[in-house]
Amino acid sequence: MWHPYGAFPPSTTPLEVVGARGVRLELADGRRLIDGMSSWWAAVHGYRHPHLDAAAHAQIDRMSHVMFGGLTHEPAVRLAARLAAMAPGAGTTSALDKVFLCDSGSVAVEVAAKMAIQYQRSVGRPGRTRLATWRGGYHGDTMTPMSVCDPDGGMHAMWTGVLPAQVFASAPPTDYREDYARELTALVRAHADELAAVIVEPVVQGAGGMRFHDPAYLRDLREVCDETGVLLIFDEIATAFGRTGTLFAADHAGVAPDVMCVGKALTGGYLTLAATLATTAIADAISAGEAGGLAHGPTFMGNPLACAVAGASLDLVDEGEWRTRVPQIEAQLRDGLAPARDLPWVREVRVLGAIGVVHLDRPVDMAAVTDAVVAEGVWLRPFRDLVYTMPPLVCSDDEVAAICRAALAGARAAGPVGG
Ligand SMILES: *Cc1c(COP(=O)(O)O)cnc(C)c1O
Repeated sequence: MWHPYGAFPPSTTPLEVVGARGVRLELADGRRLIDGMSSWWAAVHGYRHPHLDAAAHAQIDRMSHVMFGGLTHEPAVRLAARLAAMAPGAGTTSALDKVFLCDSGSVAVEVAAKMAIQYQRSVGRPGRTRLATWRGGYHGDTMTPMSVCDPDGGMHAMWTGVLPAQVFASAPPTDYREDYARELTALVRAHADELAAVIVEPVVQGAGGMRFHDPAYLRDLREVCDETGVLLIFDEIATAFGRTGTLFAADHAGVAPDVMCVGKALTGGYLTLAATLATTAIADAISAGEAGGLAHGPTFMGNPLACAVAGASLDLVDEGEWRTRVPQIEAQLRDGLAPARDLPWVREVRVLGAIGVVHLDRPVDMAAVTDAVVAEGVWLRPFRDLVYTMPPLVCSDDEVAAICRAALAGARAAGPVGG
């Protein structure tokens, strides 16, 4: 069996999970590990949450799936309405009130790109087919998302002639710099006639390198996109629903995009589901265009079971315990990870919301670091030169403390002695 980015034999032997409850994974050998990854940003409320379990059971007793072509159902209708009502820009003329339900984050990004290209064709700009972004991003593993991933991290050299050639700015600096803002906006202006959209991860670049940037860059992008008629797409697949301390990362900038992708935590990590939201102006233009509609419609679109669980997850998001919990987790990660700075091979320690990153000056030895982390009773999955955590937003103080201890042990094991 292939595992993600797998090879044979795998770089580490996968651990067998037989159950999960709260923030803990239960392994076949009886060990229990605190999940410091939230199953890749998704399990924000923890596992087997009674409210989500109940929603899944109730829906499975009605219907698990039904096609979405020509049919509709309450779980999807309710979910779409709630997403539109909570999205940036809600209640204004630029509200994101047209919702496309997708099966995964990568598909949500594909759909966002197709929306942008179809929109530009419909408004009489068929030459606008490319995307612009900044380096250091990650948007998924299918071809279009890959084309806007970081060119080095995404190994674009290997895919020359296969991936569409997109327009790249350098990676956004952590702090606000006028010269970078000028470079970024000048690039969009220079390529405006061939650009359908700018796509970025707001505030946090996730799997492309776990870097943070000043939200003010998003306002600059909003302005230059308005000026040039290029659409602005925010990929909030990793950041939506409280992870960074605000409901959406875009809220740090007070900016609404034209198109927004969400996924990962949408179902609290229970089932695969994502969504692409767009403004009414975009939906109207696409509907009036030559195709007469959006050219996308997956078999499992709007899966009722996934929509029902997503609705239950949004109940918990609305309850808003994360609003007090995330700042506490942030403070704890700051204190708990700080000692890693004393290790000579640690380049930087950075924390934002419920995201903590120890950035090393070398690639991690996966086996050594994983062993050190697991020995502390925690699950982390390092990559490249990063030992990092994005814990469930319901973690207790003790659990966050354990995650910090494990991340430090992992960082130590990555050095000369351990690695
Ligand atoms: C994970 C991720 C994706 C891809 O989502 P999948 O569900 O893995 O296809 C896209 N964009 C961002 C920012 C992500 O973190």
